[in-house]
Amino acid sequence: MRNKSSCLSLVSSRLFIQVVNTAYPVSIYIHIPFCTKKCGYCDFYSISGGSSYYSSVLERIILQLKTFIAKNPVIDVYTVYIGGGTPSSLPLNLLESFLSALEDILPSNVEEFTMEVNPEDIHKPFLEMLFSHHINRISMGVQSLNESVLKVLERNTSRYKTLKALDCLASNWQENISFDLITSVPGQETADTLRDLQTLLKFSPGHISLYTLTFENGTPLTKKLEEGTIHKVSEEHEAAMFDGCTDYLEENGYYRYEISNFSTPGEQSLHNKVYWDLNPYFGAGPSAVSTIPFQNKALRIENPRDMKSFLHGNFELINSQSFLLEHLLMGFRLIKGIHVGRIESIFPIDIFSTFTRTIDNWSRNLKFNEGYLSLDRSGLMLLNKFLSDIADEIPEDLPENYSWPLRS
Ligand code: SF4
Repeated sequence: MRNKSSCLSLVSSRLFIQVVNTAYPVSIYIHIPFCTKKCGYCDFYSISGGSSYYSSVLERIILQLKTFIAKNPVIDVYTVYIGGGTPSSLPLNLLESFLSALEDILPSNVEEFTMEVNPEDIHKPFLEMLFSHHINRISMGVQSLNESVLKVLERNTSRYKTLKALDCLASNWQENISFDLITSVPGQETADTLRDLQTLLKFSPGHISLYTLTFENGTPLTKKLEEGTIHKVSEEHEAAMFDGCTDYLEENGYYRYEISNFSTPGEQSLHNKVYWDLNPYFGAGPSAVSTIPFQNKALRIENPRDMKSFLHGNFELINSQSFLLEHLLMGFRLIKGIHVGRIESIFPIDIFSTFTRTIDNWSRNLKFNEGYLSLDRSGLMLLNKFLSDIADEIPEDLPENYSWPLRS
């Protein structure tokens, strides 16, 4: 019998021969691990002052993508997302060469091509360059327009710079826009976020992401919390702030389609929906993760959070319990919920008889509509408790014969 490590080396050697042997869409995530300055709350993998790594890391990312695409010619690239880190912080000429190299590899019919940008990097030639390389969606990390909130978050920007960036976008960018905002920052009031939303909606973004601040282990902000120099907002304040913003966005035509995401009709993020629907994606760059099909199972590849060794990723065939859990964790974040028929087609289970206890206990918060099982607004406020209940009911003897992917 083969041991685990020999199985993994078999998987890894075959990965670079061919993984995808059936034509279906794959999304691509590219992680650019550089920021001008680290923000106090952030635990994404990125470094500041990393200019000596720029060229070699970008070249390796291109090599990773070339290898994957050349060896799997049947794939159809559905969406591309360049995130990080801060891709917009790269010098313009380097970013342009990188986008040109991508253009040579990627098909021209990518449906959604997003790049994350920070306000301080936006100027007219930059936007023109993105447009000329077929980027059709910008996701701008605004986070707040309030100077004190930006200071707590240790953002490398100011209200003035963000307003200038917004004006520049209004005059020079006709494609899709998404803005990220953070709520529940110590000292932040509901009125602050509502004022920010009021300003941002004047620029007609199709999409808004509204995240609640989380204190990640090891970040400078968490250190301040532990030292008692800052304090978390209360749960009541957090819920009231999020509710107030949700109401405001809904009154203005933005529909909540995921726990933290809102859009006008037709402007949902296609790329992020690939993650939440657990469809195949390939990640290039340090710390990027891939979930791609391999012999009807889900193959997980995790690139190291270390620039020097990121080409030597870890490979793992995901077992059925973990993969079912991922479907529940991702699916219940969506306002439409999990697609019961799709999950039952992937895994050998009946959702309603497998999760009877959770479904009974949460019946007041659960809705079943057109094949989707979802939580209502009060249920979403208690999402972690619900997920912990449903996770406890995943059968320990769940058979390994799941079959993936199936598109919803
Ligand atoms: S700019 Fe974005 S990726 Fe960089 S440190 Fe700040 S939050 Fe993290």
